[in-house]
Amino acid sequence: SKDDGRNGYEIFKFEMKKSAEKRLGMELLLRKAVFNDELVLHYQPKVGGDTGRPVGMEALIRWKRKDLGLISPAEFIQVAEETGIIVEIGEWVLREACTQCKKWHDEGMPLISISVNISAVQFYKQKLEKTIEEILRETGLEAQFLELELTESILMKQPEEAAETLRNLKALGVKISIDDFGKGFSSLSYLKHFPIDTIKIDKSFIFDCDIDKANQAIILAVITLAHNLELNVVAEGVEEAPQLMYLQSLQCDIVQGYYFSRPLEKKKAGEYLQQYFLQ
Ligand code: C2E
Ligand code: CA
Ligand code: CA
Ligand code: CA
Repeated sequence: SKDDGRNGYEIFKFEMKKSAEKRLGMELLLRKAVFNDELVLHYQPKVGGDTGRPVGMEALIRWKRKDLGLISPAEFIQVAEETGIIVEIGEWVLREACTQCKKWHDEGMPLISISVNISAVQFYKQKLEKTIEEILRETGLEAQFLELELTESILMKQPEEAAETLRNLKALGVKISIDDFGKGFSSLSYLKHFPIDTIKIDKSFIFDCDIDKANQAIILAVITLAHNLELNVVAEGVEEAPQLMYLQSLQCDIVQGYYFSRPLEKKKAGEYLQQYFLQ
C-alpha cells in the first residue's frame, strides 16, 4: 500500500512565493473556490483496534480545480488561516461533514461518528460553540457523533479561553480529540485540565512502531497514560500489518491509516461503510 505513491491527489506543488501579491492571488482563488463549490471532503475510516469494523470517518478537505486536479490541504490551509478565510471554509466543512454523517445514519449504515479538523483561527475567532450548535440543529446529527480534532498547540495558545470553549462544546455533547499527540513540546499537565475524550498519537511514532524501540516506548507510555486517564487512544498512519499487530498487543482502541483505507471521496466512503452494513 505504501508503494502506490500518490497521496489521493495529484502530486502538485502550488508554487507559493511569500510575496503579498502571490498571497492575494491565492486568497482570491480560495474565495472563489468557496463560492464555486470547488472544495470537497474526502473521508478516511477509523476502525476498532480489536474488531476491524468502522467506528468513524475523518473528514479531510481537498480543493478540486478543473485545471489542476485535487490540491492537498497542506498547500492551502495555511494561507486560508493567515487570511481568515479558514473561518468560512471551516464552517462549510463542519456543515458538509455533519450532513453526510447524518445521511449515512439515515441510510442505515453503522452508527459511526464524524471527525472534523479545526484550525486555530477557527477555534479562537468565531463563537465556535454557537456555530456548531446551529449546524447540529440544522443537520439533525446527534452531538455525540461529532468529534473535533484539535492539536495541543491550539489549546496551549490561550489555555484559559480554550478551556472555556471546550467546556461549552462538551456541554453540547460534542467529543474532543487531541490530534498529532506527542509531536509538539507541550507539557502533559493540560490533559487533566481540559475536558477531552481522545488522544490521537501522531503518525510519526506509528510508521515503524513494529521495529523501532524508541517509538514503541513512547506509544506504550501514551496508551498507558491515556487509559489511566480514561481517554480513548487512536493511532493514525497505520500502513502495514506488523504495526497494527503491535498496536493491538497494547489494546489501542482505534486505528486509522492506509492499511485500512486511504481517504475516500464520499460515494466510495459510503460503499466502504456499506460492506459492514451488509455483513
Ligand atoms: P491530519 O489531521 O493529521 O490528517 C492526517 C493526514 O495523514 C491526512 O493528510 C491523511 O490523508 C494522511 N494519512 C492518513 N493515513 C495515512 C497513512 O497511513 N500514512 C500516511 N503517510 N499518511 C496518512 P491530508 O488529508 O493531506 O491532510 C493534511 C492535514 O491538513 C491534516 O492533517 C490536517 O491538519 C489538515 N486538514 C485536512 N482537512 C482539514 C480541514 O477540513 N480543516 C482544517 N483546518 N485542516 C484540515
Ligand atoms: Ca486530524
Ligand atoms: Ca494527525
Ligand atoms: Ca496535522
